[in-house]
Amino acid sequence: MKGEIRQDITTGTWVIFAPGRGERPSDFPGGEPSSTRAADYDPDCPFCPGNEDQIPPILAETPSGDGPGWQTRVIPNKYPILSPDGGGRGRSEGFFPRLPNRGRHEIIIESPRHNLDLDQMDLPDLARVLETWRDRCRAIRSETPKLVPVIFRNRGPGAGTSLLHPHTQLIAAAVPPPRLIRREETARTYYQQRRSCLYCDLLAAEEAETSRTLPAGEGLAAFIPFAASGPFETWIIPRGHRPDFADTGSEEILRLAGTLREILLRLKRILGVFSYNLVLSPPFPSPDSRPFSHWHLRILPRLTTAAGFEFETGIPVNPNLPEEDAGRLRRGES
Ligand SMILES: [Zn+2]
Ligand SMILES: [Zn+2]
Repeated sequence: MKGEIRQDITTGTWVIFAPGRGERPSDFPGGEPSSTRAADYDPDCPFCPGNEDQIPPILAETPSGDGPGWQTRVIPNKYPILSPDGGGRGRSEGFFPRLPNRGRHEIIIESPRHNLDLDQMDLPDLARVLETWRDRCRAIRSETPKLVPVIFRNRGPGAGTSLLHPHTQLIAAAVPPPRLIRREETARTYYQQRRSCLYCDLLAAEEAETSRTLPAGEGLAAFIPFAASGPFETWIIPRGHRPDFADTGSEEILRLAGTLREILLRLKRILGVFSYNLVLSPPFPSPDSRPFSHWHLRILPRLTTAAGFEFETGIPVNPNLPEEDAGRLRRGES
């Protein structure tokens, strides 16, 4: 892959160029089908068992909880946006700053079953998916400590996925992620002023306010944030101060699995089968950020399309009020 990372000097934004991505196959040439209508197994799917000749060598695997075989599998992305050896080593000069596109791009196959989406899994199986996320974060932290692993899930063509078989992705880029750095600066300033974690205080304030809170398992909080960027954006966050998801224990992961599944099922009752992005926040990059870095999971249903105003200004327009979305989710109203 001959990609590279270039900087737009008018905004400071880094752009990843990944020419090979255009060769990806797509399960969604005609838009959104329902994954519940798909078959259990697809002989042409590279993520289904028996088609290992279509995928790169497996990086990690967890055994099935009930018999032979595997439950989750981790592979390098066959069409990566970044690669471990990088590329594009052209010179950086003047108006044209550039970096090699070095980093990791992995796929976590969540189940051998072609049609088993997260919200339909048994809790122990869903917990195993979340443990795989945690274990990959740990692996990146020990193998390439300077890279920031971003775990995300694109469900449905409206959220940018090209393959139906349920999977999560991990991208760890060498380039500094601007939004993460901005969040770190905000949390650092708050901590310097109050000696307290912004996220711990925010979730306490959301719980005191109650109008946007949702049911969550022990030790967790869930809510639609005050300034949700789109309809039904939902956060799940641990109540105690937890800087890094990589340190999460198995009991906590099982409770997280229960809360995540419950919220996805409630959303589905209201929205039907829907496209969404799910993002797990990585720890802030600075080594001294543990007192104010606090992991959280965000579910972002893709019900609106960003248009000219949003692109130009960076100001999202949300047609739904968070309090009303939270009320509907709490009542389970369809
Ligand atoms: Zn499949
Ligand atoms: Zn905290």
